[in-house]
Amino acid sequence: MSQRFDVAIIGGGHNGLICAAYLAQAGRSVVVLERRELVGGCAVTEELWPGYKVSTAAYLSSLMQQKIVDDLDLPRFGYHVDPKDPSFFSAFPDGRHLFMWGDERQTLAEIAKFSPRDAETFPKFEAYIERLAKVVEGLLLTTPPEFPPSGIGDFVDWLKLMGKLRGLSRDEIVGLVKIFTQSASDLLDDWFESEQVKVTLATDGVIGANGGPKSPGTAYILLHHCMGGVGGKRGLWGFVRGGMGGVSNAIAGAARNLGVQIRTNAGVERIMVENGRARGVVLEGGEEIAASIVASNADPKVTFLRLVEPKHLDEEFLGSINRFRIEGTSAKINVAVKGLPNFLAFPGAPGPQHKATMHICPSIEYVERAWDDAKYGRPSQRPLLELTCPTMYDPSLAPAGHHILGIFLQYAPYTLSGGETWDNLREPFGDRVFDIIEEYAPGFKSQVVHRQVLSPYDLEKRFGITGGNIFHGEMSLDQMFVMRPVAGWARHRTPVEKLYLCGSGAHPGGGVMGAPGHNCAREILKDGR
Ligand SMILES: Cc1cc2nc3c(=O)[nH]c(=O)nc-3n(C[C@H](O)[C@H](O)[C@H](O)COP(=O)(O)OP(=O)(O)OC[C@H]3O[C@@H](n4cnc5c(N)ncnc54)[C@H](O)[C@@H]3O)c2cc1C
Repeated sequence: MSQRFDVAIIGGGHNGLICAAYLAQAGRSVVVLERRELVGGCAVTEELWPGYKVSTAAYLSSLMQQKIVDDLDLPRFGYHVDPKDPSFFSAFPDGRHLFMWGDERQTLAEIAKFSPRDAETFPKFEAYIERLAKVVEGLLLTTPPEFPPSGIGDFVDWLKLMGKLRGLSRDEIVGLVKIFTQSASDLLDDWFESEQVKVTLATDGVIGANGGPKSPGTAYILLHHCMGGVGGKRGLWGFVRGGMGGVSNAIAGAARNLGVQIRTNAGVERIMVENGRARGVVLEGGEEIAASIVASNADPKVTFLRLVEPKHLDEEFLGSINRFRIEGTSAKINVAVKGLPNFLAFPGAPGPQHKATMHICPSIEYVERAWDDAKYGRPSQRPLLELTCPTMYDPSLAPAGHHILGIFLQYAPYTLSGGETWDNLREPFGDRVFDIIEEYAPGFKSQVVHRQVLSPYDLEKRFGITGGNIFHGEMSLDQMFVMRPVAGWARHRTPVEKLYLCGSGAHPGGGVMGAPGHNCAREILKDGR
């Protein structure tokens, strides 16, 4: 046994680091044990090629809770987000384009090109989404009530929760129920007529989702993406200075400053359990680290199916974790280019389009068909593509004159049909994606200097996320809130006493938002030593 801590945290993702920092702030001795050579999990900046600093996984920030930024004084440790403006650029095959800007008047003028009626509706839609987002946002930093409720106290907690709905109009309550159950496409059909406007907005409904825009539940994913903001503007996303690792490094800086020990290249092999209670961890290589409390930032499957020996968990719980849906359908292609894509729909480079999220997905039907392929285990013939160019905001990320392009795409199913493997399909799929971009921006391929294709299988291997699911588990209603990761265990506690979950597999789920880590620390402190 080398050292003894109050708390050992498995995984140095941003949530593990946040949990550690809050616990250290409360006077606990804390060690963070990260399997990789760097901290941050899916929120990292890596020098993939000399001189190119790439946000290999997560690439945009919005969800990070302001309370956490303030509590941990993250700007002091280098945290800075540049708001993305314009927010969206969609290129259409008929040569038209649609921008969405920070300035609403400019956005409305753009929308009016496609439908004057939609331009009139848009501010009402934004206000509606904002009202609903505010209600749900109020739940992000709370612990879900006990479910199913049993004692009086549990029922009181539920009543308190219902109290949060006070003040909502009848329409808003109906709207909330609808948005949790509806498809993104149905939601948008209720408001808009233009295909181009609808598909531009629908992208947020399918990012990371295991479903198409017509799948029930995707309206909630759309709302989930509006749950934060940058510089006080709700729903706005931005680029983190220094790449997404800038978030994690700032949190790690704050944590270290509070006395947290952070160890990298320290993969945990097993959680030590004695008489039903966690008492530390064993690292790969055999080193034992004793701790009164263990919190896992690894996803629920890694935590309970790999790190805890099955004899410590009952069959029902293990069954629920086995059934927890965690297969991803997103892929990421990181590209270094010597020139920016020159879009037929808006020629010129550099231009405002390169500061936006650039969409290639012309219609809801296009995206739904892309999902159809994935549903049957095939990477989309024509995937939805989202391109971002962080070097438009932070040129220091690449050598002079060069840029980094992040291509996030749907859909690339983790499990492939017909005995295919990602080792076979990875590069041909990358070529197909490049061919599609070439159609919209001829000459693109000749600008490429390096590329890295990360299928869900590669995301799993690199980042340790089961199934390559970017949220540590599907964000569907049956796996959210009191059901995350499974009913009865949504309050960060687990069937093993003093073992907690502090990552995105716990409420309120994925995204670089810090809420699971923050909430878990609060529950640990509530339980005492
Ligand atoms: C390709 C991709 C793009 C994304 N884009 C965005 C985006 O633009 N914006 C956004 O907000 N969100 C995005 N997300 C989602 C977001 O990044 C994640 O939901 C979030 O970062 C998860 O944070 P976490 O701290 O809960 O877990 P993770 O970041 O997964 O961290 C868990 C950590 O635990 C470590 N670990 C696992 N097992 C062990 C072990 N046995 N021993 C020691 N350490 C272990 C892992 O190495 C990892 O560092 C994206 C994710 C991916 C994969």
